[in-house]
Formats: sequence, structure tokens, C-alpha cells
Amino acid sequence: MRNFRYYLPANDIIFGSGSLSSVGVEAKRFGKKALLVTGKSSMKRLGFLEKCVDFLKKEGLEVEHYGEVISNPTVDIVNRGARIAIEKNCDVIIGFGGGSAIDTAKNIAVVAGHFEGKDISIWEFSGAVENPRPITSKTLPVIAITSTSGTGSHVSRFAVVTNEKTREKMGILSPFICPKVSIVDIDIISCMPPSLTSKTGFDVMAHLTECLVSRRSNPITDFYCLKGVELVFEYLPRAYRNGEDLEARENMAIADTLAGWALVTSRPCLPHAMSHPVSAFYPEVDHGEALAALTCECVRFNIERGDEETVRKYCEIARIGGKNINSFTKEEALKSIDVIKELLEKIDLNVRLRDFGVKEEDFEGMVRSAFSTMRGPIEANPVDVSDRDIIELYKKSM
Ligand code: NDP
Ligand code: MN
Repeated sequence: MRNFRYYLPANDIIFGSGSLSSVGVEAKRFGKKALLVTGKSSMKRLGFLEKCVDFLKKEGLEVEHYGEVISNPTVDIVNRGARIAIEKNCDVIIGFGGGSAIDTAKNIAVVAGHFEGKDISIWEFSGAVENPRPITSKTLPVIAITSTSGTGSHVSRFAVVTNEKTREKMGILSPFICPKVSIVDIDIISCMPPSLTSKTGFDVMAHLTECLVSRRSNPITDFYCLKGVELVFEYLPRAYRNGEDLEARENMAIADTLAGWALVTSRPCLPHAMSHPVSAFYPEVDHGEALAALTCECVRFNIERGDEETVRKYCEIARIGGKNINSFTKEEALKSIDVIKELLEKIDLNVRLRDFGVKEEDFEGMVRSAFSTMRGPIEANPVDVSDRDIIELYKKSM
């Protein structure tokens, strides 16, 4: 076993049907004025936005609503939200929605918390610039209310942001952005339509399988990952087929949380590293779709070149997915690709890059983007990867 350091920033999770009602009491602990960050329509359309505002006001909080977040949120969206938080003197930032809204809330909390009188941008804090600004305890407190299962963002210390100008999609990483409280209300999550359930659910699977084989894994994160993988195989197809299957929704929300915890100490690896440039170059491709198109070829690459431990872990995934595994060989490990493909079939997400209009001429730029923005996941991959390897894998995923 490798030596390891296990770390989980303070996490306070309020889980279950109706838990949105606790938002006011929780937010009040952090101040009087809240910036509520959401996407443009879903939470409003479903009536949850109004409820959330009411719960906050009932506890005496003043609420500013910033409802401009889009999928793959940009630097500009973060900076505009931060300006509101600064001008209105907000004490706490509430991210309400999927990963995009929660990540934007975290990033706003960084920018607003470090404001000292002159305009700053979230990009200055990203690893994409030379000498990034440190993220400190000045970061405003964040509360996350997750509406997807999902990105694990409600319990993780990551936040993603896209720079449209440089076409880089980057993870901001700091324990200070980890939400102080996360609310996981199954009533909200159950409103996800089937296509969103499948895309976000496969993101969970990608986090779990990647964190399991990652060079940054350890026996504690392995434990989360193996249990999470079991839950996804069983409950994601059920949640996809019937959104009102509450048992399936609850278990997917648990899997999402386990994956978020795994992400804190372990790291995603090659599929995530390759998926970010896809969405940076083709913003209409959702994160989960990009992962679905890339994962199987990355798994094959890792098994072909992987060491004994990596092969054994892929065998575990195949076994949990229902295959008989007689020995921990590369041949047996390849069955993990079959179980992942079977899962993708069940959730109608067996896609290829060409389905999204991805063009080979962009591969060189996408590889450069991967190496500039996703060095951490590339280095966490259990097998060394070169730029040529990544181009080959993009080609095979077409
Ligand atoms: P998004 O937050 O992007 O939401 C996708 C869409 O689903 C939006 O149109 C949203 O509508 C809608 N929606 C959300 N919840 C519901 C619901 N309950 N019912 C109906 N519609 C709903 O999706 P994800 O959660 O997948 O987040 C993806 C983002 O998170 C990406 O940018 C990805 O890179 C990032 N990410 C972050 C990680 C982290 O650790 N921080 C890890 C992995 C990914 P509307 O916009 O109107 O609200
Ligand atoms: Mn992800």
C-alpha cells in the first residue's frame, strides 16, 4: 500500500425529501444577506426558487438573486455575479442547481471574498495563469443545494470555470470553497428529466471509476468508489427509466456524495482530462456526454498499459457490474468496458464524439488545452500519457 494523506474538509450534509426548508436557518449562521445563484430557468419553472427565497426571508435574510448561470459557466458569468455580491455586500453565497450553479457560487465566493477595491477576475486564481493568486480564508462561505446527481460539487473543493477567449475549461481548487453546508433534497433531484439523469449519472460513474484507479487513490477513497459503483450500476438505470423511483433517486444522490468525497482526496484521471477540452471547444456538449464518449477507450488504454493494481481495480468494476471474474488478468479486466457499455446502453448514452460534430482538426488544440488545464488529472492517471496518446484516444472515440 502507498503512503497517503486523507483529507475531508468539514462537511455538513442535510439529506432527504423536503430538506430545502432548512436553508434559511443554515444561511442565517453566516450572515444577513445572501446571494442566491441559479441557472436561468429550471428552479424557477419548478417552483423551488420561490420556495427557497421564502425560506430565506422567513429567517430574516435579505436575498439577491443571480440567475444567469449556463452549463459550462464562463469567467464573465462568475465575475458579473461577484460584482453583485460585492456591491450588495453579501455575506453568504448560495449555489442552487446543478454543478454549474454550485461551481459558479463557489467561484463568486472567491472573487467577492478577495475584493480589495479594484476589479479582479476568477481567472487570476486559476492554475492556467503564471503565479495564480492564492485562495484564502477570505473566501465567502458557500451553501450548496444540489439539484442533480451529479458532479459531487456540493461536497467537493473543486469548481469549474470556462475561459471562452482561450477555450480553456479549468478547475479551481481550494478547501476554502468547499460548501459549509450542503442540502440534498430528493424532491428537487427527482425533477430531472431522463436525459439529464443519464448525463449527470454517468458523471458520477466517471468520478467513481477514475478516482478508484487514480494514482491519488487510497484505501479510504477506494471504499467510497467501490460502494458508489455498485449503487450506480443498480440505481442509475432505474432512476433513468422512472424519475419518480425515490429509492433509485436517493441511492444515486448517495453515490454522487460518495464520489464527491472521493474527489476531495483522490483525483479523476484521463477521461476527465480529455473531456474538458471537448466542452471547451464545443460548449454545447455536456460534461456527462463528453465522458460517455471517451471513457471506454481510456479504460482500454489503462488496462493495456496498466500495472497489477490497476488491472485488479478494473476487474473489481467488472465484477460489481455482474461479470464473473476468475483471475485478475488484463483479459478479465477488459470486461469492465463491457459493463460500462451495457450501462451506457441502458441509459441511452452510448455516444461517440462524431455524434456531436467534433472535428479531427481540433484535436491538436484540444490536447494543448488538456495539458494546460488538466495537468492534475493527467498526472493522476495510473498510466503515463503523452500528447500523441491523447490524440489517438480522441480518434478512437470518434
Ligand atoms: P448543470 O448544472 O450544467 O445543469 C444542466 C441543466 O439541467 C441546466 O439546463 C439546468 O437548468 C437543468 N437542471 C438542473 N437540475 C435540474 C432539475 N432538478 N430538474 C430539471 N432541470 C434541471 O449540470 P451538472 O450538474 O451536470 O453540472 C455540470 C457542470 O459541473 C459542468 O460545468 C462540469 O464541468 C461541472 N463539474 C464540476 C465538478 C466539481 O467538482 N465542481 C465535477 C464535475 C463536473 P437551469 O440552468 O435552468 O437551472
Ligand atoms: Mn465530472
